[in-house]
Amino acid sequence: MNTLDLIEGETAIAKSLGELNGQAQHCKRCDLYKHATQTVFGEGPEQADVILVGEQPGDREDILGRPFVGPAGAILNASLIMAGIDRDRCYITNTVKHFKFTQRGKRRLHSKPNAGEIQRCSWWLRSEIKLIAPKIIVALGGTAAAHLRGKTVRITKDRGMIFHPEKLPPVLVTIHPSYILRIRDRTAANAERMKFVQDLNQIKQVLT
Ligand code: SF4
Repeated sequence: MNTLDLIEGETAIAKSLGELNGQAQHCKRCDLYKHATQTVFGEGPEQADVILVGEQPGDREDILGRPFVGPAGAILNASLIMAGIDRDRCYITNTVKHFKFTQRGKRRLHSKPNAGEIQRCSWWLRSEIKLIAPKIIVALGGTAAAHLRGKTVRITKDRGMIFHPEKLPPVLVTIHPSYILRIRDRTAANAERMKFVQDLNQIKQVLT
C-alpha cells in the first residue's frame, strides 16, 4: 500500500472519534479480533495537533483496552514531557488495533502483524487521520513508519527526520519506545532515551 492509498482509500463514515471507536469495537476486517481481548482504539482529543502511531497494542493494552498504558507508554509519556510537548495536544494510536501474539505457556508474546493485517486495519488509522487532521504524525517504530511513508524505512538512518508524504501531514520518524526497554545496559538505555527525546523535539518545529 502506498501513501496515496492510505489517505485516499475508503474510510469509515463517522462524525466523531467516539462514533469511530464504537464502530471499531465490532471490527472483523481481519482475523486478529478472534484471539485478542478487545479492539484497542486511539485516545486523545479530536483537535489534537499531533498523532503518535505505534505498531499494535501490547499485552497490558489488550487487557485494559487502552493504547500505550504499559511500560513503553510510561517511557513515551515521560519523553514527551522532557521534549516539552503538551500531552493534551497529542492523540495516541496504533497501526493495528488488535493485539497479535503467540501463546507460550501462560505468556502471550508479541507477534508482528503481517502486510495484509496492516492494510486491512489501515481503514481505521486513515479514518482517525481524516477526522483529526493533525499538523504532524509521529511514526513510532518501523511498522508505523513504513506504512505512513509508503516505503521501507531504516529507523537507524531515518530517525529524527520529518518526511512529507503526498496528501498526508508531515511524518516524523523515530523508534518505538519499547526498543528502549529491550536494552539491557543501563547507560546505553539512558543514551537511547535521550536520543528519543531529541527526536520528539522535532515536533515543535511543526507546531510553532
Ligand atoms: S486488527 Fe484492525 S482490521 Fe483486524 S480486526 Fe482488529 S481492528 Fe479490524
